[in-house]
Amino acid sequence: MTVAKTIVWFRQDLRIHDNPALLSAVDAGDILPIYILDDVNSGDWSMGEASRLWLHQSLASLNESLNGQLCLFHGDAQTVLIDLVAEFDATAVHWNRCYEPWRIGRDKKIKTQLSEQGIEVNSYNGSLLWEPWEITKKDGTPYKVYSPFFKRGCLAAANRIRHVLPAPKNINYLALPQGFALRSLEELSLTPSIAWDDGIRKAWSVGEDAAHDRLQRLIDRRLEGYKKGRDFPAMDSTSRLSPHLHFGELSPHQVWFQVLQSDPINEEDLSHYQSELGWREFSYYLLYHWPQIPDQPFVPKYKAFPWRSDKEGLQQWQQGKTGYPIVDAGMRELWQTGYMHNRVRMIVGSFLVKNQLIHWQHGERWFWNCLVDADLASNSAGWQWVAGCGADASPYFRIFNPLLQSEKFDPEGEYLLRYLPELKGLPKKYRHKPWEAPSDVLDQAGIELGKDYPVPILDLKVTRERALSSLRTMNDQLAAEQ
Ligand SMILES: Cc1cc2nc3c(=O)[nH]c(=O)nc-3n(C[C@H](O)[C@H](O)[C@H](O)COP(=O)(O)OP(=O)(O)OC[C@H]3O[C@@H](n4cnc5c(N)ncnc54)[C@H](O)[C@@H]3O)c2cc1C
Repeated sequence: MTVAKTIVWFRQDLRIHDNPALLSAVDAGDILPIYILDDVNSGDWSMGEASRLWLHQSLASLNESLNGQLCLFHGDAQTVLIDLVAEFDATAVHWNRCYEPWRIGRDKKIKTQLSEQGIEVNSYNGSLLWEPWEITKKDGTPYKVYSPFFKRGCLAAANRIRHVLPAPKNINYLALPQGFALRSLEELSLTPSIAWDDGIRKAWSVGEDAAHDRLQRLIDRRLEGYKKGRDFPAMDSTSRLSPHLHFGELSPHQVWFQVLQSDPINEEDLSHYQSELGWREFSYYLLYHWPQIPDQPFVPKYKAFPWRSDKEGLQQWQQGKTGYPIVDAGMRELWQTGYMHNRVRMIVGSFLVKNQLIHWQHGERWFWNCLVDADLASNSAGWQWVAGCGADASPYFRIFNPLLQSEKFDPEGEYLLRYLPELKGLPKKYRHKPWEAPSDVLDQAGIELGKDYPVPILDLKVTRERALSSLRTMNDQLAAEQ
């Protein structure tokens, strides 16, 4: 009997447990596990630098789990696969589905070409609890509002979530034919162009085992205090699973079921955690049904919004030099660790698009490059939510006051000091607003504003009024055109 020669194409599922494509391929016969870094088809959304750093380590970890048999390629996935199938005489290709518009388009073409050649192509759901096309309103159209999407759509179909799969017991590997353009991990050029990655390396453990350890920490805590604590950036209340979920070192299925079995101290913490996983599903759902959201406002009228061009202001924001400590701490957390707490993402986002009146796509781009959890679905949805132009977004006129947010969610200024140690000599109340500290207090703290820490780059009240007036101008203009 001839054994099926199956290629398993790893993508955003860098794990061996609960991996439907891997398990089915191993059941079918001998496998060739591959990863293709496809910078050809990703267009404007090729992987950012922090993500590449993560990917490097994650592939190393997956390779170890696969006994060093993972084959790496760099280039157009279609060309690589078609050549590989021909050379290798493969009979089938298995992969888990991805949902980015460029990947959907590319995968469809690959599937058609391989099928025409008589190659079996099998794709599976490896990274979403609910397939986006399975959840619709009664009239068959997609939901645009989160709450009914999650409650009426997803939770009502909770019994359809597939169960967690085991890792394959015995994997038989096939050797790659000679002369293939195989890349070593080093040759994938995944290290950043400038040396800023030390903090990221220190802040994270990468790979499937590390992802499980992190989930276990949440389970051991029995989700205690999640609902309330998740808004306080100095507390270690959230799971920090986002990069692991993005790269598929862990599936949402594993998280969902383990959390359900975690004997939570409080039911509210459990349901709140599930609803955050629901926001991840909603983001993918939006991206699937409205594939333009990374580049276009979901609410079209915002195309006419009068954004400002402000190169210097954008740089001050990116570098954490706005003079507003909560904004600067967030931006420095991002730069130093590749991550930013969710509450702070909302605060820095609001500051950029409302106080600075800079287009949300500049923020989206910066996050894309700097976040280790950069995810086309969640990042686009997050930025559109902040900018008021997304599906079920926070209305544009609701403008966060960064000072009040800072005092409310970091009352001791602990988070601020973690990233702005230069403020440590200030009494608590001035850590949020150094510009209000009397000169003798500043002297005592060894701070000269404008030298040791920036003077605020803008006036919150004035810029709030400017944002509201820009919104009115846009609405009036659109009304006049009708
Ligand atoms: C402007 C902006 C940009 C964002 N960009 C991204 C991004 O590129 N990648 C990303 O994964 N998340 C993004 N988010 C969502 C959110 O900030 C992160 O998912 C969260 O901070 C991750 O931390 P955690 O794993 O500790 O979350 P937890 O609170 O532990 O939540 C558990 C999981 O639920 C999911 N989740 C939680 N909140 C959200 C949310 N609002 N939207 C979508 N999924 C969510 C994540 O997968 C997360 O790991 C963004 C939010 C904003 C406001």
